[in-house]
Amino acid sequence: MNIPQLKETDVFELDGKYVMRTYARMPVVFVRGDNCFLYDVEGKEYIDLVAGIAVNGLGHCHPKVVSAICEQASELMHTSNLYYTLQQPKLAEILTQISGMSRAFFCNSGAEANEAAIKLARKAAKKSGNPNKFEIVTAEQSFHGRTMGAVSATAQPKYQKPFEPLIPGFKAVPFNDTKSLLAAVNENTCAVMLEPVQGESGVHPADREFMIAARECCDKYNAALIFDEVQTGLGRTGKMFAFEHYGVRPDVLTLAKTLGGGFPIGCCLARDKWAEVFEPGDHACTFGGNPLACAAALAAVREIKDGGWVANAERVGTHFREQLSHLPGIREVRGLGLMIAVEFDEPKAKSVATCALEKGLIVNSIGEHVLRFVPPLTITTELVDRAVAILWECL
Ligand SMILES: *Cc1c(COP(=O)(O)O)cnc(C)c1O
Repeated sequence: MNIPQLKETDVFELDGKYVMRTYARMPVVFVRGDNCFLYDVEGKEYIDLVAGIAVNGLGHCHPKVVSAICEQASELMHTSNLYYTLQQPKLAEILTQISGMSRAFFCNSGAEANEAAIKLARKAAKKSGNPNKFEIVTAEQSFHGRTMGAVSATAQPKYQKPFEPLIPGFKAVPFNDTKSLLAAVNENTCAVMLEPVQGESGVHPADREFMIAARECCDKYNAALIFDEVQTGLGRTGKMFAFEHYGVRPDVLTLAKTLGGGFPIGCCLARDKWAEVFEPGDHACTFGGNPLACAAALAAVREIKDGGWVANAERVGTHFREQLSHLPGIREVRGLGLMIAVEFDEPKAKSVATCALEKGLIVNSIGEHVLRFVPPLTITTELVDRAVAILWECL
């Protein structure tokens, strides 16, 4: 590659000068990844328990994803959704088969997938004849992305306040508060939008009762039940989709993160009548579902499905949570499969993450009390034990 081999300090300086300050980055420059390991510009090795925030579900540079990308890149990268390609319908076929949905719309990110879901629900409601049927009920502490529609659904003041006025019609209820949910949903509701496990705000699984209530009130008022599985989908929680833990099927399901095995792609799936809402011209995405992204995702989804990685996430995740529960000063260990958080009694998450980084372990701190772990689904119990040993040293 024709990028000069910069020193770490040069990179910090360049980035500080020319890149918009949207990120508070950890002081490390990565140049290479291999399954559960990352390597920095100085050649130091790290165990990666963040995996691109649940993007690298198959680890870094999985050989099947790499060869799918290389082969497709030399064949055809992009045409336009004005034409058919081989890869997009094949990917739609496998995703609908594993999810029980009927049709897919492809885009490039989680936020875009949620925008599609929001527009789908709004358009469906137009047919009801009730001009006020446009409300979308979401949950407090949710995270659905940073575009204006997605951020309007993201009920966290820190993400919303600087950008007001928001898109009208979003109402948030406390997560897992079934009474509030039932009180908020009525004939003006066009959708209820939830993460089965809230990820960004610190790994909070939904209660079964809350999920069942969401399904029932959507049925009662003919509203779309949208599950945002951008983070939880495709094996992360130890099942292919997190909704399987609850036995509650959504009408609309959004995916991104792990979908492309590290390559950007998002998807909004819908079933039955909800899959028939969009007509030509309603919605589109220039890059969405291009042959390169779809080839990467096809390879990734086939490998997740056939490689035993969902079961591995369940098995290793259970071991990981058990090991974490023995750490000193832990208030709670939460999560499903390999989507895990620990909450400390004391505000030390940031300093533990910094210490771990120095010792070659990458973990994600959320606020001062919570560490999040979303490692590759390919991780082993041996590697988990090595990581936990480093956490012991830091604590
Ligand atoms: C990461 C995430 C998003 C946003 O995805 P982007 O690709 O960053 O737009 C949306 N919803 C959930 C649940 C997420 O975890």
